[in-house]
Amino acid sequence: MLHKIHKSIEDLYPETVEIRRYLHQHPELSFKEYKTAQYIANFYEGLDIPYKKGVGGNGVVATLKGAKPGKTIALRADFDALPIQDAKDVPYKSKIDGVMHACGHDGHTATLLTLAKVMKSYQDQLPGSIVFIHQHAEEYAPGGAKPMIEAGALKDVDAVFGNHLWATTPVGTIQTSKNVMMAGADRFEIIIQGQGGHGAYPHETKDSIVIGSQIVTQLQQIVSRRLDPLETAVITVGMFEAGNAFNIIADTAKLVGTVRHLNTEIQEKVIQEMEKIIKGVCLANECTYTFNYDKGYPPLVNHPAEAELVMEVSSKVPEVEKVEDIIPVMGGEDFAYYMQEKPGAFFFTGAEKEGNHYPHHHPNFDFDERAMLIAAKTLIGAYFAYQD
Ligand code: MN
Repeated sequence: MLHKIHKSIEDLYPETVEIRRYLHQHPELSFKEYKTAQYIANFYEGLDIPYKKGVGGNGVVATLKGAKPGKTIALRADFDALPIQDAKDVPYKSKIDGVMHACGHDGHTATLLTLAKVMKSYQDQLPGSIVFIHQHAEEYAPGGAKPMIEAGALKDVDAVFGNHLWATTPVGTIQTSKNVMMAGADRFEIIIQGQGGHGAYPHETKDSIVIGSQIVTQLQQIVSRRLDPLETAVITVGMFEAGNAFNIIADTAKLVGTVRHLNTEIQEKVIQEMEKIIKGVCLANECTYTFNYDKGYPPLVNHPAEAELVMEVSSKVPEVEKVEDIIPVMGGEDFAYYMQEKPGAFFFTGAEKEGNHYPHHHPNFDFDERAMLIAAKTLIGAYFAYQD
């Protein structure tokens, strides 16, 4: 049956591309994906597959019940876009100013929708059930995964699998990990309250730019000097806002940044060390501060047996040339929440497009659409393999 399903997936490829390009032209921002959610709901309506809309927000969950007993496997695709101006010169370029599918979520959605269409035609032969989870708001914390799970998206599900098209890896490569695959991604904000004054009389002020600079520099030493060299974290100050004239000493400075980590112990250690540095520098400079730290998505930790299963089934997909067990990448993903609830695995499907080497979240981002075939075959392979 798997061979016939592969053939059906290939036969539907033109429609997969058509759906992807329609979605690419009509992107919507996280938490505002109303039309995309309706498009997905209409698709399941047309297939006569029962579905629920408005799951934990704009989420859509459809369930295809097979005729035979078996396990319930959830397959997840996200469908939100990013606040980026599409700079590509292609016929399917975004029609929405300042909004773009620059991470491939249009491809994830097209893959899952056509896979549902294929599987509907095999319904009377299928074991268990397939739950198609269409998740809104992956790009913007707190994200859509958590509310969807809370609304019951994983109810009665035995395992969950998810794919991310990966435009910096060649087509024909599948990557996954038997442990932590993606980082936890947090946001912090530090406000230093110095004492402004005349640029010519610094001794009568508390210069928040100089104090902020000391903090930025010292934060770099947390990873290099306070963490075990075999542990990993990233601390990036991405914004430093202070001052508004050349001859005035800035009263306040605002530093905003991100921390990436692979486990909560390191996360806690980083928070403690940051607080110590900020407190120490501000004490030495006789100023005050506020430090807000928002914990974002947790690290994405795959389940070893399910990751192994993804590696096995993907190696049997004819177009797959290479299956890799990778070390973690420092990007974040709210698929992490599914992994905290149920067994399963996330994987990257190589989707590098010839002549386009732009990374995810770039205004020129694009991917090789053939990767959607490989993703569909791997996802459905995991569903069947899990039944054994
Ligand atoms: Mn993404």
